Amino acid sequence: MDSTAPGLRSELTSPPPHMTPEEFRQHGREVIDWIADYWERIESMPVASTVAPGDIRAMLPDAAPEEAEPFENLLADLDRVVMPGVTHWQHPGWFAYFPANNSPPSVLADTVSAGLGLIGLLWSASPALTEIESHVLDWLVDLLDLPQQWKSTSAGGGVLQGSASDSTHVAMVAARYRARQRGSQPVERMVAYTSAQAHSSIEKGANVAGFGAVRLIETDERFAMRPAALRAAIDADVTAGLLPAFVCSTVGTTGTTAVDPVDEIAQVASPAGLWHHVDAAYAGTAMICEEFRHHQRGIELVDSYVFNPHKWMMVNFDCSAFYVADRGPLTDALSITAPYLRNAASDTGSVIDYRDWQVPLGRRFRALKLWWVLRSYGAAALREMIRHHVALTTEFAARLTDDDRFEIVAPHPFSLVCFRCRPADDSEGAQAAADRSTDALAAAINASGTSYLTPSKLNGRSIIRVAIGQARTDRRHLETLWDTIAAATGA
Ligand SMILES: *Cc1c(COP(=O)(O)O)cnc(C)c1O
Repeated sequence: MDSTAPGLRSELTSPPPHMTPEEFRQHGREVIDWIADYWERIESMPVASTVAPGDIRAMLPDAAPEEAEPFENLLADLDRVVMPGVTHWQHPGWFAYFPANNSPPSVLADTVSAGLGLIGLLWSASPALTEIESHVLDWLVDLLDLPQQWKSTSAGGGVLQGSASDSTHVAMVAARYRARQRGSQPVERMVAYTSAQAHSSIEKGANVAGFGAVRLIETDERFAMRPAALRAAIDADVTAGLLPAFVCSTVGTTGTTAVDPVDEIAQVASPAGLWHHVDAAYAGTAMICEEFRHHQRGIELVDSYVFNPHKWMMVNFDCSAFYVADRGPLTDALSITAPYLRNAASDTGSVIDYRDWQVPLGRRFRALKLWWVLRSYGAAALREMIRHHVALTTEFAARLTDDDRFEIVAPHPFSLVCFRCRPADDSEGAQAAADRSTDALAAAINASGTSYLTPSKLNGRSIIRVAIGQARTDRRHLETLWDTIAAATGA
């Protein structure tokens, strides 16, 4: 009975003691001030955190507090506990991985999204969340010159996922569904293909989706997938009684921003009945500029596409735009209607329920930050940013080319340049020495605190990736990087 469960007796319970509206306003201003100060002083901090494993946890109490703490303590611990363990992704000397650049309107929009606290599982659960998302993703179809069929007003449509990995996984689930519709082959016989330079998320997605095998297709001297090698792999699998079901082309690989020939891969994939997905997680944003669109030639022939506004478009993580040319296989694969999800709007089929376009049921109002960024900057300024970053990359690459101590190891069509110390000759000894010099140079740059980049491997040799796409990065930050390289190499 209720009387035996003390916590449930109504005379003893009350809502939690919230901040008053006045306190919230005051602390809200303090938090926004804190973020603004952070952005102002970010350049004075070393880019990468230097704490040792466990250092941050050691500053935390063993148990959660029983009594409330004043908000001042929380803010103070941002500086005392959090900041030492922060690696500053928004630092203009950030050249590591790919950028995850953000912007004031994006951060404000995410704050509003948190304040609204919506879960947009169905259209009816908050119509604005769904309709703004559909509409802004349709805008992006035009801005990136993607096929008109991908608009939600047509046969396809776009949806925001949390990450490119999620988007690719969902593409594989749709591909698996379509392949099963077409034949009665078990999933374990289905094979997925991608290039040897593709992102690890393709292989992971195939594993999660239960594909029987993933083939990593050989690349050419520009690190792009060889369509002939893809064709040979598909033929061999068909001969072996397997079912080729999925291929992922990459426009802008993570390793070097290599571009697979989407049109030629489509010529192989379409007749063989494969689902063709394009991973343009980083480089997709560049398609807002007309001069990069030749890199996505053949895009009208593919089944699905992903790019991350959270990498290079000043929309803070997480925001991954996923498109399908035909939404049928996707929603058929993912739609399960429990009785509590039935509602009049969904039953008429006149609305989009994004729960059928993703693995989770719940989803946040991610479209708000995308909408606010597009409106706050306008497409012209976004194009300018892309061109600025690509120009900085071209300049930096020219410096490397002019210096015979270094060699550029891959084409740089966007804003990533990969280089290494030039070996004296082709001998293994000279190559190994160049690897050691390259590793040492990367370590010296990262220890400088002013620039941060990612050492990597290409064809088994050490390289340095310089990814230029932080929203605040300007020419002087590349000057600093160059000075650091000069100091480290004794030039
Ligand atoms: C960054 C990247 C991914 C992974 O993106 P997430 O959103 O972190 O999952 C996938 N593919 C490519 C080409 C990438 O550059």
